[in-house]
Amino acid sequence: MTVTSPERPAETQTKRVLLAAPRGYCAGVDRAVIAVEKALETYGTPVYVRKEIVHNKHVVETLRERGAIFVNETDEVPEGGRLVFSAHGVSPAVRASAVARSLDTIDATCPLVTKVHKEAVRFAKDDYDILLIGHTGHEEVEGTAGEAPEHVQIVNSPDDVDQVVVRDPDKVVWISQTTLSVDETMETVRRLRQKFPTLQDPPSDDICYATQNRQVAVKKLAPECDLVIVVGSANSSNSVRLVEVALKAGATASYRVDRKTEIKDEWLEGVTTVGVTSGASVPEILVEDVLAHLAGHGFGTVDEVRTATEDLMFSLPRELRAGLKAAGEEPKRPRREARPELPQA
Ligand code: SF4
Repeated sequence: MTVTSPERPAETQTKRVLLAAPRGYCAGVDRAVIAVEKALETYGTPVYVRKEIVHNKHVVETLRERGAIFVNETDEVPEGGRLVFSAHGVSPAVRASAVARSLDTIDATCPLVTKVHKEAVRFAKDDYDILLIGHTGHEEVEGTAGEAPEHVQIVNSPDDVDQVVVRDPDKVVWISQTTLSVDETMETVRRLRQKFPTLQDPPSDDICYATQNRQVAVKKLAPECDLVIVVGSANSSNSVRLVEVALKAGATASYRVDRKTEIKDEWLEGVTTVGVTSGASVPEILVEDVLAHLAGHGFGTVDEVRTATEDLMFSLPRELRAGLKAAGEEPKRPRREARPELPQA
């Protein structure tokens, strides 16, 4: 792995960390995690959660320890049980099966995912062919595609464009998963537009603010980094994208880790500048652990590279607010994680 920049000999360089901001929890994840916590506090166990509430091992393990029961499908929940839908959203078929089992549901779908669902419904109503740019098999994509299965085709990458066939090339719209690489998505759209020149854009960005902000921040610090560590789980789309974005932006190496114990000593050999960021489903405590680990290896200087400030918060799911009110509790808004004040690079 690369060690030093040619401009500065190794012995004069100070080991440092460039810490991306924004990083970590987004408003949708914050809300979904608090929804499960509040459901457990208010109703007690069992509270079932369909799929991982957010794609982070630590979060899922912590909620499991508190009593949440994670299931894959609604038929694993006893009739009449309480079920939380994850931040990634669900298709109408899943909702219908929950109703059929008389489940008491709490919908923690991120409002920005719901927005994309509504776009799919609207364009299907107008009989468009809908090209959903996203990853086949990802829960969010399954949920969005399920809104209009007769009208939606999934386009995984720019290379998929050649295989796309539509009924009327003048009545085609693209929408997307919320957690994609902005640059790769734009390349897919460019190729789609070559094929379908009147391709319609979605009414507003589908790649959410949090995904975009984390990519912009990592792009800024990556060119200065010998190594970029992305904290996030393997099934977290936006975390995996951050590794790709860091490498494309000029980081010599980039790895994703769930936690500090996955950092290999050899990654740090001869490295001077380490970039650190985290996906939108990652609690700040895991980043703090990574920073402590790096400090133990001589990377005690941490400069924050901030490219945006986020203050978006979503109110708790409607069903939960009603439940909290009935229980005499004030339905509180989700909190933001406290972020340490750090010097700006
Ligand atoms: S990453 Fe974006 S779409 Fe997904 S939960 Fe966070 S804010 Fe919502």
